[in-house]
Amino acid sequence: MHKYIPYGRQQIKEQDIQAVTAALKSDFLTTGPLIEEFEHKLKTVTDAKHCVAISNGTAALHAACFAIGIEKGDEVITTPITFAASANAVIYCGGTPVFADINPETYNIDPEDVKKKITNKTKAIIAVDYTGKPAPLDELKAICDENNIYLIEDAAHSLGSLYKGQKIGSIADLTTFSFHPVKTITTGEGGAVTTDSDALYTRLQLFRTHGITRDDNLMLKNEGPWYYEQLELGYNYRITDIHCALGISQLDRIYEFKSTRNQFFDYYNEQLINVQGIITPKRADFEDSCYHLYVVQVDEKIYGMNRYDLFMKLREAGVGVNVHYIPVYYHPYYQKLGYKKGLCKEAEAFYERIITLPLYPGLSKCDIDYVVDVIKNK
Ligand SMILES: *Cc1c(COP(=O)(O)O)cnc(C)c1O
Repeated sequence: MHKYIPYGRQQIKEQDIQAVTAALKSDFLTTGPLIEEFEHKLKTVTDAKHCVAISNGTAALHAACFAIGIEKGDEVITTPITFAASANAVIYCGGTPVFADINPETYNIDPEDVKKKITNKTKAIIAVDYTGKPAPLDELKAICDENNIYLIEDAAHSLGSLYKGQKIGSIADLTTFSFHPVKTITTGEGGAVTTDSDALYTRLQLFRTHGITRDDNLMLKNEGPWYYEQLELGYNYRITDIHCALGISQLDRIYEFKSTRNQFFDYYNEQLINVQGIITPKRADFEDSCYHLYVVQVDEKIYGMNRYDLFMKLREAGVGVNVHYIPVYYHPYYQKLGYKKGLCKEAEAFYERIITLPLYPGLSKCDIDYVVDVIKNK
């Protein structure tokens, strides 16, 4: 029996362990100097003016929705092929997620369908860079400009990706990241929001820590050195110095991770190109993505086996395959809210066919050969 191969896995090296150990021995465990250092390093990797590191990627999305003032009655357009958090964040703020279909070539949100879903209640678009491939940001920005609404980019998959030469994190009004262990770099739990707007930056900082500030420029008055004011209803969404120590150390290897992920992505594509009925992800001309997931589609009629059976066969062979994602509005919670199947035809058809194969830096070509053999020998 071959060793178990998960679909994603963090890479922890001795330098990561040493960085975390040093943080534990320092004076600060929670809000110390490492948060700012991590934010500073993230700004370099994203080319953003501002960065707020936060407790996780979901909190980052919640903070982004808060920053632009999403509230009851507001609609926010997003894709159903994402982790539920992209839509849940809208509901946290009292808003209503509206789902637009995907483009079957890129698997990302389709700007043409977004246009059809715009109403006078639409306040923002949350685009997701699914698998690490950037969403069609120029087209989405044009729609946002025309309708005077915000673009939030859920870049949980795409730290280190470029869009037409520009770094992800410097393009949308707000870009959110996750540092969960399966993502490109990890802090354990962790996330961040980047923005070029000074006003949004202030709101993100307030939101992360109860809506509280000690900044004289923001407070109504100052009664003394003990004094602070709560200006908004924020949360305790702070990240810690311990987490940031790991993040700083991981960011040293972001381009190494990117290069390895790209090599494996291409190697899968080469190995699977002649397997009839397995549709591989396309790399567009000049695409420069940091791939997070490697997702294939099973065309049952041509391949001669359905997605379920191939999935089970891979799992039985010790390959930790997964499915990303169940369309968000299929979940019972969303069904109870009144969302009906049939909303997004392409997304629904896509969901029926997909399998996520293992992709992470610690994988080897030998592991990929093994996975490909299981797929070939049906
Ligand atoms: C992982 C992920 C999130 C949530 O991030 P957490 O850090 O787990 O809260 C949100 N959106 C997408 C697309 C993700 O993949």
